[in-house]
Amino acid sequence: MILYKKAADTHNWIEKERLKKKKIGFVPTMGALHEGHISLIETSKGSNDHTICSIFINPTQFNDPKDFAKYPVSLEKDLQLLEEAGCDFLFLPDVNEMYPDGLAQTNNYKIGRLETLLEGKFRPGHFQGVCQVVHRLLEIILPNNLYIGQKDYQQCLVIKKLLQLIGLDDKIELRICPTLREPDGLAMSSRNLRLNDEERKRAPAIYETLLFIQSQKGKKTTVEIKKQAKAKLEARGFRVDYTEIADAITLETADGWSENKKLVALIAAFNNEVRLIDNLLL
Ligand code: AMP
Repeated sequence: MILYKKAADTHNWIEKERLKKKKIGFVPTMGALHEGHISLIETSKGSNDHTICSIFINPTQFNDPKDFAKYPVSLEKDLQLLEEAGCDFLFLPDVNEMYPDGLAQTNNYKIGRLETLLEGKFRPGHFQGVCQVVHRLLEIILPNNLYIGQKDYQQCLVIKKLLQLIGLDDKIELRICPTLREPDGLAMSSRNLRLNDEERKRAPAIYETLLFIQSQKGKKTTVEIKKQAKAKLEARGFRVDYTEIADAITLETADGWSENKKLVALIAAFNNEVRLIDNLLL
């Protein structure tokens, strides 16, 4: 695997490959890699000549400084996993390389309503930071295909919007990949590494609650089901940010069960200090 830390070196290497008509797949990550990330790499390898992974813990998308400070790092294991997965290229920039002019956001990405809902509401500024880092990475790499996980459902919608805003939606195909789970249903996440034994045992309750919501579809009102879902999580000791049933395209709260609208259930809840998110298409 080739490893570059410099944006210009990465860009030049990819440009040379592009001239040879090579197809580029890109998987951006924040490291502490797990099988969920590797599934994105494998999907990319199936449809591209080169798969580029990036590891960069982006400070500008953390609204909570403690969450940033405690974000897991496991670079040696990451390198090993990427080698084993047959990843061609790792871009591993530091913060100066990513933001040579400093961390201040110069762009105000007009994401619209998406920024005020769910993750946008509970993590102010988060999606501006996501747009800033993804925009910069796409300028460096300009892939043919961009692979992201449904695990971060709202982020998928934001990145789709970003591609339109920066005029790359006709050049880059957005590929949304399914959420990989542990055998007990817990969505794989780098933040799971922060859970102690007791918290880890409790963590699958989030997915169980999503399945509960799905099982109640059409039986009671969405308002009632959301309330019950929240109560279930609170009874297990979670501090709940939201249990939502929303339109799968706009993320606006669903005003009831409807056969013609695609809906998604989304949960964000604190397992002591660790905030976990998950979702399920209904
Ligand atoms: P992260 O390192 O958490 O920023 O994630 C990097 C990419 O991997 C994002 O597109 C995530 O949505 C995706 N991802 C994270 N967890 C999973 C998972 N359990 N299954 C599939 N994709 C995932």
